[in-house]
Parts: sequence; C-alpha cells; structure tokens
Amino acid sequence: MSPVRKRGAPKGGPRVPRAVTEGRGRQVIYAVVEGESTERDYLKYLEEEYAGEPRAFEIHVIWERKGLKPREVVARALEKISELDDLKREQVWAFFDRDQHTRVQESYADALAQGVNVAFSHPSFDLWLLLHFVAGPPGAQGGSSSNVHQLLRGSHLAYRDFDKRGKHVTGIRRQALKGRAEHAAQLARVLVGNCPSLGCSPTKGHAADCGVLARDPSTEVWKLLAELGIVSR
Ligand SMILES: [Zn+2]
Repeated sequence: MSPVRKRGAPKGGPRVPRAVTEGRGRQVIYAVVEGESTERDYLKYLEEEYAGEPRAFEIHVIWERKGLKPREVVARALEKISELDDLKREQVWAFFDRDQHTRVQESYADALAQGVNVAFSHPSFDLWLLLHFVAGPPGAQGGSSSNVHQLLRGSHLAYRDFDKRGKHVTGIRRQALKGRAEHAAQLARVLVGNCPSLGCSPTKGHAADCGVLARDPSTEVWKLLAELGIVSR
C-alpha cells in the first residue's frame, strides 16, 4: 500500500463519504511524486495556502517511502488515471526530476501520451523553490542539484541549511514562499526562452523537437499552479 493521503477523514474519526467531502466542481489533483519530503510538503502548502474555504481544489499525493524512479512515477500515474471517470474535474500529475535518472525522456513521453500532466524539473524540483528567491534564473546545471542547493542556501535565510538539515518545506521555509509564486512562475518561463534548443519560447513553450534532457535547467511545477489559478497562465 502506498501512503496515499486521505482527505476529509479526521484523525481517529469515521471516514466521511467522498460525496460529502468533495463539493460539486471541486478540482481534484492526484500528484505522484518521487518521494522526497520537499514535494510532499510543498503540495500540502499549496492546498492549505490557496484552496480556500470551502476548498476550490484538493491535492492527493501518491508516493512511496522507498522512493519512486521517474518511470515508476509514471506507471503509478497511469494506474491512477485508469481509475478516474471525470477527467475534467480530476487530473493526474507526475512530478519527477532529471537528477541522475535514466529513461526520463521515455517516461515523459509515455505520461503525456496517456493524458497525465507532467511537472518535470531539470535538475530537480528544488530549482522551483530557488526561483522564488532569485532575481534571475540560473544557467545550466549539468544534471546535478548540488549547485541549486548551494544557491538556495544563499538566497534566503530560511533555506540556509537546506539539504544540510533536511529538505523539508515547513515552518519558516514554507512561510518564506508566500507571495512569491508569480515571480517564480515568471522565471520558469524565462528559462524556457533560455532553453539551449532552438525554437523554445516563454509563450509557446518548448519546441516539439526539444528533448526533456536538453532543458537544462527548467521546471514545469508552475503549470500546476496555473491550472489551479494560483499564478497567471
Ligand atoms: Zn526547450
């Protein structure tokens, strides 16, 4: 069993039926992640900070304690999408990183071909956090996150021990993100324009022949925020 977060069930109390907890029209996001606390904490933050009351959306995070590789993230996402019956209201998102993984390109293509939304980051999700705190985006990272972590530690006091003392996004690290999502999304779009492949642009996105491994650095996390109305499209 994967520790899927169950929503609407108070701890120790009876499980409230889905029909009651999920108002009509509420958007439901199933986000499959590689397993780092960073992504899980961040997605929880998005829901708690932006969903409102009554909640306009909910995010269910699917993950495994032992971690999932990109192709396993996509396999879980495909499994989930096959169970859904209202693809207008319910979406599946696969979050995965370049890091040192193999089969990233195939995983990406498989997911998109079957209706899964992809939030791919190169070198890693942590680049998305960094974009909240820098005036301009960094250059190529060569597939390693160590420079991104170093930049992040220097970019905001709340992150000064990031990856030295855990990669959680809670407490002051979470607080520091507030009000900066639009800026981060803007920089993520600038990165599309900076893409080494020709023909990629902030308005049109990556060109059809731009392979995901060439997108160094890049992050698509902002697309989920645009989908949820948190940042502009
Ligand atoms: Zn590109």
